Amino acid sequence: MSTPNKSEIYFHAAADHLKISDRMRTLLLTPERDVKVQLAVRLDNGEVGTFVGYRVQHDGARGPMKGGLRYHPEVDDLEVQTLAQLMTWKTAVVDLPYGGAKGGIAVDPRSLSSGELERLTRKFVDQIHDMVGPDTDIPAPDMGTNSQVMAWFMNQYQKYHGFQPACVTGKPLELHGCEGREEATGRGVVIIANRLFHQLGQELKGKTVALQGFGNVGLYTAKFLFERGAKIVAITDVRGGCANPNGLNIPKLAEYAKSNNGVQGFPESEPLDNEGLFATKCDLLIPAALGGQLTAKTAPIVQAKYIVEAANDPTTPEADEIFHERGILVAPDILANAGGVTVSYFEWVQNRSVVHWPLEEIRAKLELKMTAAFDAVWKIAEERKVPLRTAAYILGIGRVAKATELAGVS
Ligand code: GLU
Repeated sequence: MSTPNKSEIYFHAAADHLKISDRMRTLLLTPERDVKVQLAVRLDNGEVGTFVGYRVQHDGARGPMKGGLRYHPEVDDLEVQTLAQLMTWKTAVVDLPYGGAKGGIAVDPRSLSSGELERLTRKFVDQIHDMVGPDTDIPAPDMGTNSQVMAWFMNQYQKYHGFQPACVTGKPLELHGCEGREEATGRGVVIIANRLFHQLGQELKGKTVALQGFGNVGLYTAKFLFERGAKIVAITDVRGGCANPNGLNIPKLAEYAKSNNGVQGFPESEPLDNEGLFATKCDLLIPAALGGQLTAKTAPIVQAKYIVEAANDPTTPEADEIFHERGILVAPDILANAGGVTVSYFEWVQNRSVVHWPLEEIRAKLELKMTAAFDAVWKIAEERKVPLRTAAYILGIGRVAKATELAGVS
């Protein structure tokens, strides 16, 4: 086999435990389809803008492939491949009948008008509509996209394939969306944090938290942590940060961030940058922003006892090793942030059955799914004496490998 790239180090650690053959590893690691498209879009100033769009379908052994669409300037081939692979393990860890995919466009969505974003999204659908669909590959929101983008996606898809609301998830409620989809990832993160402390014989209530990111995931994570009585002492977003050792008032901060374009300058707080955030003395650190934030350079300054990964791929293997050596327990992304795709699955089920479930039902179902996944991962970690990340990979990869083997190769 060729030398593994960084993101595959976690895979091989688990595959070694499962004694997976080299051939099966190649099969599991190779994406089924990897597509890159050019998107030419008419801009408001009359000029033509060109962008690059990606969709990687990583593995479909367990069902239709599932994963978000990211609009961010750093989107490239490697990032989308890595994130697509993570979706395969993530959907398997929470036992959804899905495989994994991911897509994106290399663009800063804040630099485009709403009309430009709509045209870009529709052009993307024009280019990839024949490779996605309710039974093949179902996109969803991710960084830089939201329910509006999903509504445009569905509408454009419909022009080619007729009424198919299950072709995409994370849609607005008015257009076949699901109650609680927007809050789902943050809610899932807090369910996992809560379960982690429960297993350790502790309580989430009263715990101090440092949170990186105040976008969709960070905001809802903060909100639910606050509701459960945790004390959020530090938050950073793309523009800056704020800290208060007595705990930030999250409802007030959310209001402030809306009208001030970020958390920076929040009254009753001290300014803070990311380095300061990582170095904050606290019980729990939650990265909820970009990938690759916790590295060989930043891991040694981390003061938290526990890390729950709300972002996708926030920790490099070097940093993971440092946390392991320092006894810092990490609940990995493929478990901790699986709440979003889990509620996406609920949306897809409802769309296909033409029903609408109430919020309380969604929340109860999410709690059950996430708790079951956490407990399964915890059990493997105890039995095999491995970190939670390796345990989650063992669970996810084991399920995908088994499905691949049972289906056979014709
Ligand atoms: N983008 C989210 C993730 O990374 C959700 C994906 C989905 O709902 O399909 O898990």
